Amino acid sequence: MTQIRLRNTMSRQVQDFAPIDPKNVRIYLCGPTVYDRAHLGNARPVVVFDVLQRLLRHVYGESHVTYVRNFTDVDDKINATAVKRREEGAEGTLEDLIRARTEETIAWYHADMDALGAARPDHEPRATDYINAMIAMIERLIEGGHAYAAEGHALFRVRSYKDYGRLSGRSVDDMIAGARVEVAPYKEDPMDFVLWKPSDDGLPGWDSPWGRGRPGWHIECSAMSYELFGDSFDIHGGGIDLQFPHHENEVAQSCCAHPHGEFARFWLHNEMLQVEGKKMSKSLGNFFTVRDLLDEGIPGEVIRFVFLQTHYSKPMDWTAEKARQAEATLRKWRAAVAGIEPAPAAAPSVIAALADDLNTAGAIAALHALSDPAELKASAQMLGLLLEDMGEWAEAPAVDLSAYAEHLADLRARAMETKDFAPVDAMKQALAAAGVEVRMSKAGVELSLKRLDSVKTILARELNARVREDFHEAEAWGAIARAMLAGEQASQENQTEMLTKIQQDFLQ
Ligand SMILES: [Zn+2]
Repeated sequence: MTQIRLRNTMSRQVQDFAPIDPKNVRIYLCGPTVYDRAHLGNARPVVVFDVLQRLLRHVYGESHVTYVRNFTDVDDKINATAVKRREEGAEGTLEDLIRARTEETIAWYHADMDALGAARPDHEPRATDYINAMIAMIERLIEGGHAYAAEGHALFRVRSYKDYGRLSGRSVDDMIAGARVEVAPYKEDPMDFVLWKPSDDGLPGWDSPWGRGRPGWHIECSAMSYELFGDSFDIHGGGIDLQFPHHENEVAQSCCAHPHGEFARFWLHNEMLQVEGKKMSKSLGNFFTVRDLLDEGIPGEVIRFVFLQTHYSKPMDWTAEKARQAEATLRKWRAAVAGIEPAPAAAPSVIAALADDLNTAGAIAALHALSDPAELKASAQMLGLLLEDMGEWAEAPAVDLSAYAEHLADLRARAMETKDFAPVDAMKQALAAAGVEVRMSKAGVELSLKRLDSVKTILARELNARVREDFHEAEAWGAIARAMLAGEQASQENQTEMLTKIQQDFLQ
């Protein structure tokens, strides 16, 4: 049997992985708070842990893995949207509107993660379905002296758990010095964190021994993992941004409520995502969602490939250039394996790379070295690539630009003699307007099709900018949309037409 080795955040070492029960390997990933579209960074853990669960199923058996990813559907931002919709005249109770908002967001999430080839988990518990379990866990913590009630709140007594800080490698005193802890009159200690908080009448709430209220975020995962897995399970995953305080608090709650269990044996954290070398942020204008990329025509499989080129424990940089290269590689591979049955087993080199702390970059390097298409297909599928139902994007025939390139090279050669470069410039301009990238060097002329937005996407951007009251930006998108509609600039819809026109104008 393949020995999987994983870096355990708790021990800070790469360790041999051995499941508690090889017939039921249990893995829990912190899922999204469902208040809006998932941004690109949210998708990284989903792809990373999807590969991990594929590997676990390969080693322990398809049905011997239980993969859980929760939905946090208690959140102030969800409430705010519901309140706003009610003020705008939407019908139904606040609870109905909250439910509608979370349903809508979960449907988006499913569609976007499906597009990335991430298999749906075995269980997707929603926090609001586990409120009683959370209340029961908080009661246990209070009985054990690890929590206390105060002014409608229940709070975890951090000093009561001697290992607090072990996961993130900090001492409580360091954390107090460094953290922005909220000081509140009802807290015994500023480090204590909320397990339950009161809800006023305008907010969703549940009855509890501490009054009407709602759970804190951390208790959700502790209670849901306990209900589905019991007091010990194999792997807990999430982004490194969750390590402290979210995961540290999960450990404290679970280990104090169920001291005979181990909670999670292995902790895996993925590093963060950047865009073109910068932290993704709304103020830098490089903040985008998975859906934004899909709408721009970047296939989910390409996004997945770019993610997997970087080891999960390293920060990953999303760049347009990487997406372009990933697309070229996938097109080449898809052409090579078209119509071929995958080999019965993935290549040992690919499995070995994945088993070595999920070295997806190494696995991709190993894929490049495979010459047998059947083996390439089977091996790529271990990474969730080259799957049958994800390949539609690659089926569109690529436009043959060689005649255009040849003609442009001829024009240039002639211009060198006549010193009249006007015909060269005219053709270059026409190609650029048709969405063709032109690179001219001593070596020759190279043409490649740019990925184009549809008119609909551009109009949506114009509208978004108007909603944000950024009229300058809206005007710029508007101008592009008008040029596209007038056939002066190519869009996804009219590119072929424009290329045909160049053929008529220049090549005949
Ligand atoms: Zn969690």
